Amino acid sequence: MTKTKGALIGCGFFAVNQMHGWQDLADVEIVAICDRDPERLRIVGEQFGVARRYQSAEEMFADGGFDFVDIATTVGSHRALVELAASHKVPAICQKPFAPTLADAKAMVAAADAAGIPLMIHENFRWQTPILAVKAVLDSGAIGEPFWGRVSFRSGFDVFSGQPYLAKGKRFIIEDLGIHSLDIARFLFGDASRMTARTRRINPDIAGEDVATMLLDHNNGITSIVDVSYASKLPEEPFPETFVEIDGTKGTLRLGKDYKLTVHGREGTVQSVVEPNLLPWASRPWHNIQESVALIQKHWAERLSQGREPDTSGRDNLKTFALVKAAYLSAERGETIAIADLL
Ligand code: NAD
Repeated sequence: MTKTKGALIGCGFFAVNQMHGWQDLADVEIVAICDRDPERLRIVGEQFGVARRYQSAEEMFADGGFDFVDIATTVGSHRALVELAASHKVPAICQKPFAPTLADAKAMVAAADAAGIPLMIHENFRWQTPILAVKAVLDSGAIGEPFWGRVSFRSGFDVFSGQPYLAKGKRFIIEDLGIHSLDIARFLFGDASRMTARTRRINPDIAGEDVATMLLDHNNGITSIVDVSYASKLPEEPFPETFVEIDGTKGTLRLGKDYKLTVHGREGTVQSVVEPNLLPWASRPWHNIQESVALIQKHWAERLSQGREPDTSGRDNLKTFALVKAAYLSAERGETIAIADLL
């Protein structure tokens, strides 16, 4: 079997999951890695047995020899690295958040289009097993036509110890976590036309907002609430579970703590547990996210070999990223924002 060869840029906290995900795919091999920090380069290179190691992405691209690049750096470098990949006509995956601004993200999509390369944003939350289970219930028609929904992530988990940069940015929870919840809302309820949002900062030791409540008008008439918090001290910490509530014309759906899914329809009430798989390299409570990393990367490899655009393409993610921008604008101005004005 000829393997698809990949390269990875950014060997930090989250990239280790991505390297495991690639290792699990029999037809993909990461042949080169890059990080400007020599220690991170050494650690990941040794852990995954990658001999070709670079501190400069430019040098890695100049040497070439790979079919795609997986960009796992933090947001500030995303645009330059995607444009570098485009200049070498190398298909690219880029971690969320897409870019510092929506204008940057649009320029990145344009660069990929001009180069004729696929661009996927690593927007993995819609690939979580419990979220896929919710989508399957909706598609089955068991609760009829949905008219109201809620996507909720409330936690008091200390995310700052593993990702210290999260405490420093002027923007925090919508850009880092809410972006996933907004993408789940689009995945389940379709594209949104209007956004109304309110934000708060509760933790005095961080720079950005750690609570956000967002109200979305979806194009098909569904109203949804997307609420996120890292300031919620609950009796049982649910990190990193997303809870979902949906009311439809024929019933209701609730995804709650410990991945318990309750579907109530005409036929009665069905309860199940839609727990993610604990992959051999994964660890609780991160296993839900870790499995979604493996699943989105499998999706990329399949679509790349088929020459088809991935579901969470750059083009698709512009619509999720526009919701992030709209939420900040709405909270700042106290107004409802029309999404079409941003795209
Ligand atoms: P990190 O700071 O731990 O790692 C980033 C690494 O990239 C660092 O080692 C840094 O030296 C390297 N780097 C930065 N710019 C570079 C450049 N131009 N060239 C080479 N190396 C460079 O950050 P992290 O926590 O791993 O986060 C990385 C990205 O992953 C962020 O965008 C974050 O939002 C995202 N993330 C996604 C999820 C998810 O579920 N999808 C979860 C956590 C983090």
